[in-house]
Amino acid sequence: MLRTHTCGQLNDLDTGKNVELCGWVGSRRDHGNLIFIDLRDGYGLTQIVFNPSLKQDVHRKAEELRPEFVIKVKGIVQKRPRGTENPKLATGLIEVAAESVEILNKAATPPFEVSDDVNVTEESRLKYRYIDLRRPGMQKALRLRHKVCKLARDYFDERDFVEVETPILTKSTPEGARDYLVPSRVNPGMFYALPQSPQLFKQILMVSSFDRYFQIAKCFRDEDLRADRQPEFTQFDIEMSFVTEEDIFEISEGLMNKIFSQTIGYDLKPPFPRLKYAEAMSRFGCDKPDTRFGLELAEITDIVKNCRFKIFQDVLKKKGRVIAINAKGCGSYSRGQLDELIEFVKDYGARGLANFKVEKGALASQIDKFFSKDELAGVKERLAGVDGDMIFIVADSERIAYDSMAAIRKLFGKRLDLIDEKKFNFVWITDFPLFKYNDEEKRWESEHHPFTSVHPDDVGLLEKGERLHDIRSRSYDLVVNGAEIGSGSIRIHERKLQELIFKTIGIGDDEAALRFGFLLDAFKYGAPPHGGIAFGLDRLMTLLLGCESIRDVIAFPKTQKAFCPMTNAPSPVDEKQLDELNIKIKK
Ligand code: ASP
Repeated sequence: MLRTHTCGQLNDLDTGKNVELCGWVGSRRDHGNLIFIDLRDGYGLTQIVFNPSLKQDVHRKAEELRPEFVIKVKGIVQKRPRGTENPKLATGLIEVAAESVEILNKAATPPFEVSDDVNVTEESRLKYRYIDLRRPGMQKALRLRHKVCKLARDYFDERDFVEVETPILTKSTPEGARDYLVPSRVNPGMFYALPQSPQLFKQILMVSSFDRYFQIAKCFRDEDLRADRQPEFTQFDIEMSFVTEEDIFEISEGLMNKIFSQTIGYDLKPPFPRLKYAEAMSRFGCDKPDTRFGLELAEITDIVKNCRFKIFQDVLKKKGRVIAINAKGCGSYSRGQLDELIEFVKDYGARGLANFKVEKGALASQIDKFFSKDELAGVKERLAGVDGDMIFIVADSERIAYDSMAAIRKLFGKRLDLIDEKKFNFVWITDFPLFKYNDEEKRWESEHHPFTSVHPDDVGLLEKGERLHDIRSRSYDLVVNGAEIGSGSIRIHERKLQELIFKTIGIGDDEAALRFGFLLDAFKYGAPPHGGIAFGLDRLMTLLLGCESIRDVIAFPKTQKAFCPMTNAPSPVDEKQLDELNIKIKK
């Protein structure tokens, strides 16, 4: 090595040692005679001091140093003079008095300063990612990500899991997104799909008697990107044979607890609580509830079913729902504040937001004349309203009522400062519906993916094709602080049942054979009962690091437009390459 120590290593116990350090020049400060530089590498910062009375020529050379030059410094570790120590820095008690300096490489003026505090556009950070990644925050994120992967690998290895790589050039996997396609040169007109997940391969590995599989898997989904999405992302992917939900929960809880306790010292205290989907919806309005605070929703459809308020009546006629929440202590909201909230719920499709303040032991509102005394008293009682509270109500289709009230709940959780930001509340959501109705395409589709098994009590409904929306599945999500971190299911392992599911969601025999024939074939030859789960590593990292964007935990992410400003991918290709692929671009 060209160095004896890293820039994050030396402390006062090293005082008097001759050392050699290599790194990048951070800030330079000239204090009269003395020149100070912060020498930085991936491990930390060490202050270097150039003293002309020690070495005149070395001091002169220090004047040539510019930000981000790569240098090697030889010197002696000394204690910083009293009063100049920096207790926030691991090396803050010492500095290195330079006896020689060698410029290993010069650097152009960087487009932004390498510091966590500078304000830079994300476009610029991604274009100059090699510089951005030098920032201590990004160093910390990627090093922690490495550690999390190592903990996971060790965890699975200790439990006899086998890591198996599955193909990247493959066939479409139905996870509900669009595929990324790759044209095949040797098979003109044919395409591979990049895997949306290793789902089908991991199930096939179960048929092949690898009864404990895991993989740190790349998945590719061509979706419109939101803040927490990337076209390619990483999962801890798991599948096991001869298991029930309980086995998957136990393995998952152990993994999460190992990761949280050994990285940030947070004991998750498994087992995690469980919540059935229907209960999650009725209490929180969503299947990813943030359970760090209460402020639960209450359905009041039954109480107001005979009220004279036309808007509610119209909704009830269409089998809609009336959902309420008690914003504690917000009874004195101004017209302006109320209007703002009405605008807020419009983003979720709601046409309005009724409000009732609790005053002198009763509910008061501009629309209270449309409700009987009993109805008002019933609402107040169900919402446990006391003077000074404000009850908000949305009446709409089930989806809109829940979506908008879940958002209102979240908003007030923050506004009323009810969320303990230091907490991690994990919860399993179970008993999801097996199917959901696609209004646009007028057909039923799988809620999770079509390989998810049916709740044993609901097989009869599936066989009869009745009340499809009531059929529950054996899928489960792991949710933490309002974000889904993992999702999986016990799978179907019988070909007949699998075919029935395909039929129900409108995938005919021919299409099934074309798309999943290999899985159905494999199921002919002895498929064991099996199930699994996958965890989103990127989102997990944002939780551990307390950052907002998954782009801050991925070395080379893409922008919201699925573009990489550093490499300029995607980009046009040569005519010749297209010819070889038999592809013509439409103008
Ligand atoms: N393949 C699923 C997903 O990516 C996870 C699973 O069911 O194991 O969400």
